[in-house]
Amino acid sequence: MTDYTTNTYYNLFIRQKDNQYKIGNTTYKERVKKLNALKRVVEITYKEKIRQALYDDFKKPFTETDLTEIYPVVSEIKFVKSNLKDWMSRQKVETPMALLGSSSWYNFEPKGVCLVISPWNFPLNLTFGPLVSAIAAGNTVILKPSEMTPHISKVMAEIVKDIFEDNEVALLEGEVEVSQELLKLPFNHIFFTGSPNVGKIVMKAAAEHLTSVTLELGGKSPTIIDETANLKSTAKKIAWGKFINNGQICVSPDYLLVKESIKDNFVNELKQQVKAFYTEEASKSESFSRIVNNRHFDRLVNHLEDAKKHNATFEMGGKSKSEDNFIEPTLISNLPENASLLQDEIFGPILPIKTYKTNEEVINYINSKEKPLALYIYSKHKKTINDIIKNTRAGSTCINNNVVQYSNHNLPFGGSNNSGIGKSHGFFGFQEFSNKRSVMKQHTKGSIEFLFPPYTNLKQKIVD
Ligand code: NAD
Repeated sequence: MTDYTTNTYYNLFIRQKDNQYKIGNTTYKERVKKLNALKRVVEITYKEKIRQALYDDFKKPFTETDLTEIYPVVSEIKFVKSNLKDWMSRQKVETPMALLGSSSWYNFEPKGVCLVISPWNFPLNLTFGPLVSAIAAGNTVILKPSEMTPHISKVMAEIVKDIFEDNEVALLEGEVEVSQELLKLPFNHIFFTGSPNVGKIVMKAAAEHLTSVTLELGGKSPTIIDETANLKSTAKKIAWGKFINNGQICVSPDYLLVKESIKDNFVNELKQQVKAFYTEEASKSESFSRIVNNRHFDRLVNHLEDAKKHNATFEMGGKSKSEDNFIEPTLISNLPENASLLQDEIFGPILPIKTYKTNEEVINYINSKEKPLALYIYSKHKKTINDIIKNTRAGSTCINNNVVQYSNHNLPFGGSNNSGIGKSHGFFGFQEFSNKRSVMKQHTKGSIEFLFPPYTNLKQKIVD
């Protein structure tokens, strides 16, 4: 592990600061070369090490690593490469008549020295994804991944060392204290992915230097299922979106709102589907990862205990094994509103099911909580879909599917207020790491005469 003291963080920061114009002035081709190098190591050279590290961190199945860690980074790089030339070019805009004789444009200039703090749940994707945008925009970057997934952090540190000088990109391993020290430095941008509570700490630290921030946060993502939805395919998509990565996904369905009339049928379909994915004994399934550590395991077991105290109905699952940080895929209904599962973001393999009678009830319920990162609607009824979208707020919405909206690079990804500030992916990520610099150029020797004193009656008439 790199032994950086506060002073060496500062030295590293200064060396990146000194290097920022060189990196910022790189051409499209030079940036593409770096992105290609990153693509090659993730996709080929380090692929097996990445798979093994994530398995060692929380038993993440290799196929899931390919799909949710390696593929998103590689496809983000491909998308950026095919658009970067356009994004880097001068964006010409019209100039009003009053400013006749001049032309105007803006361009995306790099912000400078950037900090990326990432979470443990998709550690590679959520560290290298923002890195792709930062490199594309011409920045230098310090990366600080989570302390909770040390195996993959070590591999990412090797990767970064292999392909970058540390005055361009550096990755610092270590505990929370490393992030706390880094947050004291006057970065030009901070891109943080994590919980709303730590997001507030990051934003406060950023305010000290008026550093701009992107905050990719979390929260409770509601999933509505009405009587017109295809129950079988809805159950399949929700079972996948909820239990992939063991439910440790910021955009997984956090709780279901199911039309009362179809609740029993739907829950049956969902149970069948979960068994089809992970068998009756999920602990033996090679497709089911684990809770990341004891702390999160205990947090989730406390939710189960709280549900039991409230005499909630365990429709499926509920058992756990502490030695393996394993919790069964669990479906729970009949929870009172004050149950912890309906209050906190769950981030684990437990899915509460609530019922509703009217769309108005659903809308009021969602609006009584913080704006979610994602809101899902399973319905064939256009009016229902439109009414819910128009009368609620959310970072993103997916209709008749879940989680997959994340993978469309043409869509901005991020939350709103408590679920996030700013957007990532594709052009939106590039934009986040850039300053839109406006330039106006006066072409003639003349100038806009009516601006200058003395303010005569004639000038007043022009202004009028
Ligand atoms: P977290 O907020 O606990 O930690 C995130 C990062 O912040 C880690 O690198 C951690 O080391 C660092 N950190 C923790 N405490 C800190 C402090 N006091 N000062 C400075 N840095 C600190 O989040 P997590 O447990 O790693 O991830 C889960 C959360 O992240 C969930 O809320 C989830 O919804 C959210 N998330 C959001 C997205 C998104 O794209 N919006 C993606 C993944 C996860």
